This record gives sequence, C-alpha cells and structure tokens, in this order.
Amino acid sequence: MKKRIYLDYSATTPVLPEVASLMEKIAVDHFGNPSSHHQEGREAKAHREKAREIIAASIGALPEEIFFTSGGTESNFLGITGLSKALASKGRHLITSSIEHSSVLGAFKALEDQGFLVTYLPVTSLGMVEPESLAQAIRDDTILVSIMLANNEIGTIQPIQELARIATERHLVFHTDAIQAYPHLPLDVNVLQVDALSLSAHKVYGPKGVGAIYLRRGIPFSPMSKGGEQERKIRPGTENVAGIAGFGKAVEILVKEREREATRTRVLRDQLKNGLFENITQTILNGDPDKRLPNNVNISFREADGESILIHLDLEGIACSMGSACSAGALEPSHVLLALGRTPREAKSAIRFTLGKYTKEEEINHVVKVLPPFIRQLRSTSSMSRIA
Ligand SMILES: *Cc1c(COP(=O)(O)O)cnc(C)c1O
Repeated sequence: MKKRIYLDYSATTPVLPEVASLMEKIAVDHFGNPSSHHQEGREAKAHREKAREIIAASIGALPEEIFFTSGGTESNFLGITGLSKALASKGRHLITSSIEHSSVLGAFKALEDQGFLVTYLPVTSLGMVEPESLAQAIRDDTILVSIMLANNEIGTIQPIQELARIATERHLVFHTDAIQAYPHLPLDVNVLQVDALSLSAHKVYGPKGVGAIYLRRGIPFSPMSKGGEQERKIRPGTENVAGIAGFGKAVEILVKEREREATRTRVLRDQLKNGLFENITQTILNGDPDKRLPNNVNISFREADGESILIHLDLEGIACSMGSACSAGALEPSHVLLALGRTPREAKSAIRFTLGKYTKEEEINHVVKVLPPFIRQLRSTSSMSRIA
C-alpha cells in the first residue's frame, strides 16, 4: 500500500512512542488507584501528580489550579457551566463568539435553556473578535466571557490578552478554549490574564479521552457531578492515571520542541499555501493571513465541491478535512466560515489542511502536484452539467 499523507493534525495527532510506552507501563505495572493508601496507590498518585506539575508549569499555573477531565469537550463544558452557575447570583448574561468549537457552543446552548442569556459576538471577515465589540456587549448583569485562543477551522489567533483585560476590568470571569493554540504557541495564564483555560491531550500527541482545565485559585465553581473527592471534588471519579501520565509526557516533549516545530511547520505550510494559490484560480484563503496558527491553511476553491475534493484526496492517500472534524459528518456549511461572510457555496468548497510533526516537504510537493488538475477537472464537469 502507498504511504498515506496525513494533513489533519488539528483533528487529532498520533500518540508519541515515548507517551505510549509510559502509558503501557502505568496501565500494566503501576495500576493502583491513586486514592488508595498503599504502595500501589501511592505510585499511581505520584504519576498523576507529576503530570499535573508538568502541565501547570507549561502554562504558568500552580499544580492545584489544574483539574483533569475526559478531554477538551468536557473541559469546555465543565468550565463554562461550573463558572456560570457559581456566578449566577450576580447575573445571568454570558458572552462568547460566533466561531467557537461545538463543545463551547453546546455548553452555552444548554445554559440558555436554563435561563441564561448569551451574546454571540460577530467576527471580522478574517475571523477576529474585535475588542470594541466585546466592550460594547458587556452589561451590568454580565458574569462570564469565553473566547477561544485559536480557531480549529481557520487557525485565527484572537487578541486574548486584550479581550481578557476588558473583561477583567469589568470584574468578569474570562475562560478561553486554548486547545488548538497549545500545540503551537507558548501560553502563560498570568500574561494572558485568563481565569480558566481548556486543554486536550490528543491535540498534542497525547492520548484521546484526556483533558485538563485550569481554574484560577479561589475562583467560585459549581461542579457538574457529585461523588468522590477526586480532583478536589471539581471532577469526581477514579482518574485515568495512564492517560493523565501520557498527557504529562506529551507536554514535557511539547514544551521542548514547540518553538522549533512551529518554525518548521510554518515554512511547509507557506509552501503548501503558495503552491495551491499559484496553481489554482478562484481561491479564497479563509482566516487571517498573519495572525494564524503556523500549521493551518484553509482554502475555499470556488465552484468546486469540498466533499468531492476530500473524497478524491482520500483516494489519493491524502487525509485532510472540510472545516472541523466534528462538523464534517454533517452536510451543513461550517458556522465559522458563514460567520466570516462566506456564502454557503463558498463555505462548502473549503478544505482545511493542518500540518504536524511528521509532515515532510515531499508530502507537501505531492499535494501541490495532484490537487490543481483535480480542481480544474471538477470545475469543468460541474460547469458541463450546468450547461446540460
Ligand atoms: C479538539 C477540540 C476540542 C475538543 O477536544 P476533545 O478532546 O476532542 O473533546 C475543543 N475545542 C477545540 C478548539 C478543539 O480543537
């Protein structure tokens, strides 16, 4: 079989061999329950706490401010819901953006059903949330703002420091979904001035089904589930110790390699972007050309159907995505691209390529070679069918 070219690192990443071997060792040998008072329990607890320290240090937080979850979706839901409910006596107005991940939008939808009022901030045609629009949306009864650090579909990096400053000056709690930013950008919760921040392991070469939420010390919080004392009652239940330790190992490696990798992928990404733009007409870059993740390129190929492109590339051995992995199953145009002002047709002609650790120059050259003739063919058959 021909070797496949994986360009969907924003959907998920492979687990690093070092991470997998640590996880296996813990699952098989250090299998104790970290709440148990014996040696097996203490070993498991030590692995869990080591991961907590590594992850805390990677974002400038204290270990006690990190809570492990079942992944990014739960971190977002737990963070947004737990903070909103704890603050509900002060007001019931919440602010987010119109381009958030479905896990954030889902949490806000559920809060709307419970009597909270949510403002969805618009974005510019490049996908940026304007600080003035946040300032104008704040009301006397606003309690919380949640805006993502970097977008998973178009890679746009928001001015989070500025947005968080506006919220903090008005004594609001600020949460950010940093899941896509974390693999590429150095983050510090004290520089960003955020109160809560979500992370996911499988976007940084760790296992799926593990995540974390940073909650600033002393912040009011209403846990979503009740039960044991684990994670200081914020997230009860016996921890996925192997997964958590794997997350820690992945972050240890991430912190060492992130800057160098970001530089390397940016060069390859630009090569891909320029190669496609030079060889294909009627293309639109979705998202900000500069303030974007170094591994992301998202292009609308006008008058070509994204789904057909995706299927063809898959048959050619190339994995990429239409918008996000989560909405790719549905045939609805991406809510992110519509929010930028793309027409539904333009939105449905969009393809996202996201590069990562194992991406090589030959792979990029191959995509630049096979995609342009296919787009031309697709456009000529679709215009023929219109004439017929
Ligand atoms: C992947 C992703 C999530 C969801 O994380 P899971 O661990 O897959 O549940 C949330 N937000 C963003 C921006 C993501 O890219």
